[in-house]
Amino acid sequence: MRVELLCTGDELVTGLVTDTNSSYLEARLFELGVKVGRVVLVGDVRSDIRDRLLEAADRADVVIVSGGLGPTADDFTLECAAEAAGVPLQKDPQVVLWLEARFAARGVPMNPSALRMARIPEGAQAIQNPVGSAPLVHQRIRNCEFFFLPGVPREYRALVDGEILPRIRATLESGPARTFRAFRLLRTVSLSESMLDQTVMPLAPGHPHVVFGFRTHAPENHLKLMSEGASQREADAALDAAEAASRHVLGAHVFGVDGDEYAAVLVRMLAQTGATLAVAESCTGGLIAQQLTGVPGASNVFLGGAVVYSEKMKSAWVGVPPEVLARHSAVSKETALAMAEGVRAVTGATYGLSVTGYAGPGGGTQEDPVGTVYCGMAGPGIPARYERIFIHGDRERVRLFAASHSLELLRRHLLTASATP
Ligand code: ATP
Ligand code: MG
Repeated sequence: MRVELLCTGDELVTGLVTDTNSSYLEARLFELGVKVGRVVLVGDVRSDIRDRLLEAADRADVVIVSGGLGPTADDFTLECAAEAAGVPLQKDPQVVLWLEARFAARGVPMNPSALRMARIPEGAQAIQNPVGSAPLVHQRIRNCEFFFLPGVPREYRALVDGEILPRIRATLESGPARTFRAFRLLRTVSLSESMLDQTVMPLAPGHPHVVFGFRTHAPENHLKLMSEGASQREADAALDAAEAASRHVLGAHVFGVDGDEYAAVLVRMLAQTGATLAVAESCTGGLIAQQLTGVPGASNVFLGGAVVYSEKMKSAWVGVPPEVLARHSAVSKETALAMAEGVRAVTGATYGLSVTGYAGPGGGTQEDPVGTVYCGMAGPGIPARYERIFIHGDRERVRLFAASHSLELLRRHLLTASATP
């Protein structure tokens, strides 16, 4: 099935709004095994919209159009659709009833311009919008099925999930040689995209019914496996085999699957061992604490964090001896170790983590240039340890990867600790 997306609106072609509707739909369609063939953005020019509709009709089986269904003067997508199909616009009495009911439910009189939304091309079918006024419109132009959706992302998604995807799924299932698919996302950290590719791609020839896909989601890299088979069992078996082989070569780099979020995985691991955590952050400025507290239930394991940005606060809050700072500087293994031990001691947490580094763009030294970060970890029955890493990129990237690396020290430790009881 050839599927194309067409998004209308001046805001999309003038840099004001990013086309998030398409990325949402592309991801949902790919879950059904459909790769979108083309995405076209077009400004609010009638003849342009009409021409893009006709071009798409000649290439695709299904075209999903977004935007320009509202009641304002710049909403004329359906006029263009009518022109492309060579039919007039007609008032749809059912849509009028929906609009009247919607206004009545809100206790406001119907604005006459709202009736514009009831005018749809002759022969097209209107489908009720559960979360907005403008209906979804389904129309055949030449040999192609068109779906016209409102541009408002909340409405777009509701109609995609509730109406578009079930129809596309049904069409795929009724096709002559139906293909069954299965998906798995393996989420990795501390592995560059090219390393992930190099590690995994040698497996691909051994799994001819599986597509290996890669996605960077800094600081993570994801491996997407999609299998195909003549039955669901075949697809599932092919996927299981590819997943097992990938896990074997990726080892502990895989921290989760599908919807697993990194911080949530770590919070779960801590909860399973009954351990708690506190952090002392310098260059990450609270980023680690923010990630952890984004997880519901984090309070069971995360005691708190100190943003100790100055030397004074490194000493005052997490007890880094002034001599250590004077002798080794704030960005050093000695300071990272003292911060991890200090925050653990002061909070009574099972584990203490620390980060100190040069996020840039200024600062750094000859031995420790911008991008150098020391991450520390202190815990029960183990000597405090640190890792020195070098992160390429701008300030934001250094901070992001520094936070990730620090948490990763703990996750790796918990993995080994649980493997050796
Ligand atoms: P409305 O009834 O609000 O006029 P509409 O169907 O006419 O709905 P638009 O006017 O094109 O839709 O857009 C409505 C809102 O949705 C605007 O804020 C617009 O910026 C946003 N929007 C439109 N298209 C997209 C898109 N492809 N991705 C993300 N946001 C979008
Ligand atoms: Mg509009």
